[in-house]
This record gives sequence, structure tokens and C-alpha cells, in this order.
Amino acid sequence: MSDLAAYDRDHVWHPYTSMSTPTPTRVVTSARGVRLTLDDGREVIDGMSSWWCAIHGYRHPVLDAAVRDQLGRMAHVMFGGITHEPAVSLTRRLVELTPPGLEHVFLADSGSVAVEVAIKVALQAQRGRGAPERTRLLTVRGGYHGDTFGAMSVCDPVGGMHAAYPRVLPRQLFAPRPPAPGGDVAGWTTELDGVLADHANEVAAVIVEPLLQGAGGMHVYDVECLRVLRRRCDAHGWLLVLDEIATGFGRTGTMFAAEQAGVVPDVMCVGKALTGGYLTLSAVLTTGEVAAAVSSSDAGVLMHGPTYMGNPLACAVASASIDLLVGGDWAGQVAAVSAGLGAGLRPLGALDGVADVRVLGAVGVVQLERQVDVERATAAALDAGVWLRPFRDLVYAMPPYVTSPTELATVTAGVAAAVRAELG
Ligand SMILES: *Cc1c(COP(=O)(O)O)cnc(C)c1O
Repeated sequence: MSDLAAYDRDHVWHPYTSMSTPTPTRVVTSARGVRLTLDDGREVIDGMSSWWCAIHGYRHPVLDAAVRDQLGRMAHVMFGGITHEPAVSLTRRLVELTPPGLEHVFLADSGSVAVEVAIKVALQAQRGRGAPERTRLLTVRGGYHGDTFGAMSVCDPVGGMHAAYPRVLPRQLFAPRPPAPGGDVAGWTTELDGVLADHANEVAAVIVEPLLQGAGGMHVYDVECLRVLRRRCDAHGWLLVLDEIATGFGRTGTMFAAEQAGVVPDVMCVGKALTGGYLTLSAVLTTGEVAAAVSSSDAGVLMHGPTYMGNPLACAVASASIDLLVGGDWAGQVAAVSAGLGAGLRPLGALDGVADVRVLGAVGVVQLERQVDVERATAAALDAGVWLRPFRDLVYAMPPYVTSPTELATVTAGVAAAVRAELG
């Protein structure tokens, strides 16, 4: 082990990792296009897009230039009482790109913080509307919305966050996990209404990931469920908050996943691919009505303001990333990645021990009948030339949109190698 890796093991926390018995980490020395270079000289294809982010690949000349140009003007300046072109230009792009009606943008520093802000927006909007008793959130089981306390409270309530922090999380309302496409939407709706029956006047907002639940299990659900949630929100005066942090910017085949349901939220969170994987940034978009309600709450202002709000470097690269996306053939690229993932992964469904194979847009998932040994699966994928990060019973890939057909074949071979290593 190199000195660097040894020091890392002894001193550096990694995501969801033990300090006493850490799982191995690999040292990446550089990245270019769809490839990561490891310190042993190996070049592997990144099948994860660095957790949904690097949709254009690494060291994209246009994105590199956007950061460099902005660096030549200013890296950062406070956002209280000050504004700047990178923040305003990004806001304009987001308002134009997202569904009509979403007009006001809060620039936050990460996905989890965006979810916290969205929760504050919902609570303050209800106060502004004269319904201060509406303080709870309704969500569905199997969700993931981030690692901060408000966000954790709407993550799946079984195990995970809720088990790690018993009694300290706000108590939210949970409807069942929405059924897979073609499943029993009517039965799910009945259960949803049962959960609501006694609580309709406590609910401020519904928050869900549209169409695809990511870190809560890579579960794809029926679009009709989103329409049901929209109707319930309209009927009861709840806000619909859609967390598009993972699904946004084309990943599921439409620019935003909710477009597939024809549903427009009152509040929308974006993050992850927003900067093309360059810098941490997120945004919360709201309708005019919601912004007005928040502003007429007793506080009179939206009670949030991060130090690095609207960071110019992050905003500049986000605008460049959006321009690359809309100026190119993202829909064609995502469709091609989808086809490649489908062709490579669907045959794995025939293997003993594979529970399900599903592909939505540029996301391909192989669900096993048992938990994956992450290190064994990772090593097998690396030997096949692919970086993957399986979790629970899932081996999955969401490669950069620019991954070529040949590279995609390598990605799916990497998934297959990880799956086979697991099934023995
Ligand atoms: C990753 C994710 C978050 C949290 O974003 P961070 O930037 O990691 O804080 C929230 N919601 C969804 C759906 C996510 O996938």
C-alpha cells in the first residue's frame, strides 16, 4: 500500500465507512473522458459518473475553460446584498429549462441542503398561507433525500438513518413504496389514502424522487403514482416537492423525470449533475405562489443563507454544463446508453440468484437475491476495466452520457463480472 493510501486508511473518513475496519479505497490520480486512472497505472471506465454527476465525462475542455475563465474574475464573493453574472445566468437557465411555473431559484451547496431548504420552504409557505399546523411531510417508503437531519427524516424509515438516530428525527408520514411500472397503482392509492386519512391537516408537503428512487434501492415506479400524488396535493393544499437531484438533467431519458408523468411540482430540487460533476452546487426552484407565501409568512423571509451561496465558480461551470447538454444531442446519447445497458444487462436476468434487471434511461440495475460483498464485486469489476460501487443487493451502472458503444460493452461486462463474482 502506498503512503498515501495508508495515511488515508488511518485518518480519512469515507462515505458510510468504518474508521476501525475500513473497506479498501483505491487511489485515483487523474481522470479524462469516461476514464479514471488508478495509482497502479490502470485506466478504468467510470460506470458511476461519480455518483450521477459527471455526465459529460472528466476534464471536458469546455467545462475546464468555464472554471478557468471564472477563476480569472473571482472565485467567490458573499451573496448577502451582492449578486453576480454567474448566479443570474445560471438562474435564468434553470428557470428556462425546468417546467413552466418554477420561477424562483435558491442556490444551495449540496443536494442535502437543497432538501433542507425545500422543507423550510414548505413549512414557511404553509405559515404564510395561514396553516401553521401543517408541519409534517408525507413521503413514500424506499426513498433517499440526503444525509442531513431534515432530509434523513424522509429517507426510508426501515433501518438506515432511522435506526442510527432513533428518537431524534422529526416524525414524518410514510406511504408504501410506489409499485413498479404496470403494478397495482389502485391498491397503492388506497393504502396512500389510508395513511392520510387522519393526518390531512398536519401535512405541509409531499416529497418524493420522481420515477426512480436512487440510493434507497434503485427502484423504478409507475408514472401514474406521481399523478396521484399531484392530485392529492391539489385537493388538500399540500405542496408537491420533487427531488430531481439524481434524476435531473436527462438521466432518465427526459430532461427531468417528472416530465414523463406530465406533472409539475410546486418545489423542485436539483443537484448532482448540475455542475457536470465539477463542483458542489444545488438549487431549489419554486413557483411564484410558493415564493409569495413564504415571503408573507411571519418570518417574512426564507430563513436560509449558506456562506458559499451562489458560488461563482460552481455557477459558471453549471451554466457551461447546461449549455453543453442542451446544445448537444443529450436525448440521443441517453437513448444510446440505455440501449447499450439493456443489451448488456438483460441477459443477466436469466442467472440463478439474479432477482431483477431494470433499465431506465442511462441507468442500469441488476438486483441480486442477496447482499453484495462490495469489495469482491468492486475488485471483479476493476479486473474487467470498470469502476462500480455496488450497495446492498444492487450492482448498477449510470455511465457518463458520452460513453461510446464499445465502452458501454465494457461497462456491462464489468457489471456482469461483479454479478458473477457474487453468484460464484
Ligand atoms: C444524492 C441525493 C441527495 C443528497 O445530495 P448530496 O449532494 O449528497 O447532499 C438528495 N436526494 C437525492 C435523490 C439524491 O440522490
